[in-house]
Amino acid sequence: DLTLGILGGGQLAQMLALAALPLGVRVTVLEPDAQAPARLCARHLHAPYTDAGGLEQLVACDAVTLEFENIPVEALAALEGRVPVRPAGALLARSKHRAREKQALREAGATTAPFEIIEAEGDLDGALARVGGRGILKTSELGYDGKGQARVNTDAELRAAWDDLNRVPCVLEGFVAFEREVSLAVARTPSGQVAFGPLVENVHRDGILRASVYPARVPDGTEALARDLARAVADAWALEGLITLEFFQLPGGDLLVNEVAPRVHNSGHLTQDGGGLSQFEAQVRAVLDLPLSDWAPLHPTAMLNVVGMDGPDGQPLEPDWAAIDAMSGTRVHLYHKAHRHGRKVGHVNLVAPDADTLRARLASLEPLVP
Ligand code: ATP
Ligand code: MG
Ligand code: MG
Repeated sequence: DLTLGILGGGQLAQMLALAALPLGVRVTVLEPDAQAPARLCARHLHAPYTDAGGLEQLVACDAVTLEFENIPVEALAALEGRVPVRPAGALLARSKHRAREKQALREAGATTAPFEIIEAEGDLDGALARVGGRGILKTSELGYDGKGQARVNTDAELRAAWDDLNRVPCVLEGFVAFEREVSLAVARTPSGQVAFGPLVENVHRDGILRASVYPARVPDGTEALARDLARAVADAWALEGLITLEFFQLPGGDLLVNEVAPRVHNSGHLTQDGGGLSQFEAQVRAVLDLPLSDWAPLHPTAMLNVVGMDGPDGQPLEPDWAAIDAMSGTRVHLYHKAHRHGRKVGHVNLVAPDADTLRARLASLEPLVP
């Protein structure tokens, strides 16, 4: 009997826990909020796993993994002496900090958008021109779903944006005219097996992921390139566990790495219903050193995020659940989170027998989800 500790109790922990159960893996979630998805889930299942957390329960686990990156590196370091933590604190220290992440990506041989590190007033001088005249200022830490970012087109906008972000350490990135966004996950077990997830195409709206589609419509060779880059980062960063790389695909097919998540990723949710291994099972297997092979849907598969939306009258806009359930090939996943404008509260996966049918069904599904 294996036990997996998960740091964080959000929807990713909920889905990791649900993937662990059929493998006979017990789960302990460390999460202070009793209303968090993974803790609610534990309660409803009458606890084949523990939701109480606590340090003693964690260090008794066979391994500890994480579902969010904003964990103090010191806390991980304290755990690391007592239980295997996968991915390790050293990897997290890179992925949670944009400036360090970009530097470490370049050292691993990947290309990123041009960037300038902004830590003091003087760093602003000439920075926008050096990244190409148009850019996005991003806080180095704590940003997600496009929060902590501002698009800037002039030096005055850059200065105002840095003030708005409270002058915390930032990265100014050059604006990339990408053709599309794609992502790919790679897992590596402690005994050295490497496996890849599918290359997925992603569409964002207002900085938040709206939809993911598999297969991605990319030029020949792009998936192989994504795998090579993912493997290079996994090797250079001594990965144990699973990471997901977000890429900008340029018109010629080249890939820039945007950022790395030290875990399963929203774009990988479609693996739950495509017929293959899911990304959640892949992370559980990788972290516990269980046998692992590449995972990709067996059928064309898409995912549409359900994001809390307020209507013009301030009332929440509800998806048309009856119509969604009535559509062929849909499957709804909810996180049991209270409504808040802009907050991810669930997703709908969609499968189809071929890629054209999938795109057509996705086009019918989209208007049903505000
Ligand atoms: P996530 O929820 O993925 O962690 P985040 O807040 O960390 O989001 P990013 O992934 O850096 O933010 O950016 C969000 C989205 O904004 C990207 O997926 C992309 O659509 C757009 N974007 C970010 N950086 C750039 C860039 N340099 N050029 C063009 N578009 C960009
Ligand atoms: Mg991010
Ligand atoms: Mg991102």
